[in-house]
Amino acid sequence: MATTGEEQQSQAGRHQEVGHKSLLQSDALYQTSVYPREPECMKELRELTAKHPWNIMTTSADEGQFLNMLLKLINAKNTMEIGVYTGYSLLATALAIPEDGKILAMDINKENYELGLPVIQKAGVAHKIDFKEGPALPVLDQMIEDGNHHGSFDFIFVDADKDNYINYHKRLIELVKVGGLIGYDNTLWNGSVVAPPDAPMRKYVRYYRDFVLELNKALAADPRIEICMLPVGDGITLCRRIQ
Ligand code: SAM
Ligand code: CA
Repeated sequence: MATTGEEQQSQAGRHQEVGHKSLLQSDALYQTSVYPREPECMKELRELTAKHPWNIMTTSADEGQFLNMLLKLINAKNTMEIGVYTGYSLLATALAIPEDGKILAMDINKENYELGLPVIQKAGVAHKIDFKEGPALPVLDQMIEDGNHHGSFDFIFVDADKDNYINYHKRLIELVKVGGLIGYDNTLWNGSVVAPPDAPMRKYVRYYRDFVLELNKALAADPRIEICMLPVGDGITLCRRIQ
C-alpha cells in the first residue's frame, strides 16, 4: 500500500523512539525488511504502545520478526514468557504457535497487558494465552514443586527483572525440555556489557549492568546448555538445553 511522505517520515522515526534499544539503527533497513512484513495486528499494538509512557520497554519490531520466525522453525507449542508489558513479543509468539499452542505469560503488571489485550483478541490468538499476574519466581517454584512441568516447555522468553535472570535460569533449566530453548533478552544491555566500567551510563543501565554481566558469564560456563548470543534488538542469548 502506498504511504504519504509524512507517514513514511513518522514511521521512519518510530523505531528510534520505541524500540530505540534496537541495534538495527538504519531506517532504510527497517523500511525495507521489517515494517512492510509486520502483521497488521502487531503494527497496531506497536503504535498503541508508542503512546504509553513506558514504551522504552517494548520489544523492537525486528526482534518481534525474529521471535516469530524462530518459534516456527522449532515448531514451538508449549511456551512461556516472563515480562509481558503490553504484549508485543507475546503477540509475536501467539501468532507463531499452532492453534492448540500455549503461552504461560507472567507479569507483575496486569494493566499494561490489558492495554494490548484487545488487539490480541482481535487477532484471534488470545485463547493461547494463560496470563498470571504477579512475580514469576514463585510460579516457577510452584511448578517445580508440582513436578509435572519438568522438561515440558519448547520455548521460554525471559524479558523481565534483569536482577533475577540468574534465579530464573536455575528454575527454567528444569522446566525447558531437552532440545528446547530459553531466550534471555537484553543481554547486550545497551552495549554497556562491553563498555569500560567508568564509561558514562544512565543510572538504570549502570545498575543492572553487573547482573547482565554475571548472567552472561554464568550462561557461557553452563554445560547443560549450548548458547548463541544474537545482536538482535538489545541482544538475545538463546540457550538450547542439551542435558
Ligand atoms: N516482552 C515485553 C514486550 O515485548 O513488550 C517487554 C517486557 S518489559 C521489558 C519488562 C516487564 O517485566 C515489565 O512489564 C514488568 O512489569 C515485568 N516484570 C518486572 N519484574 C517482574 C517479575 N518479578 N515477574 C514478572 N514480571 C516482571
Ligand atoms: Ca527486552
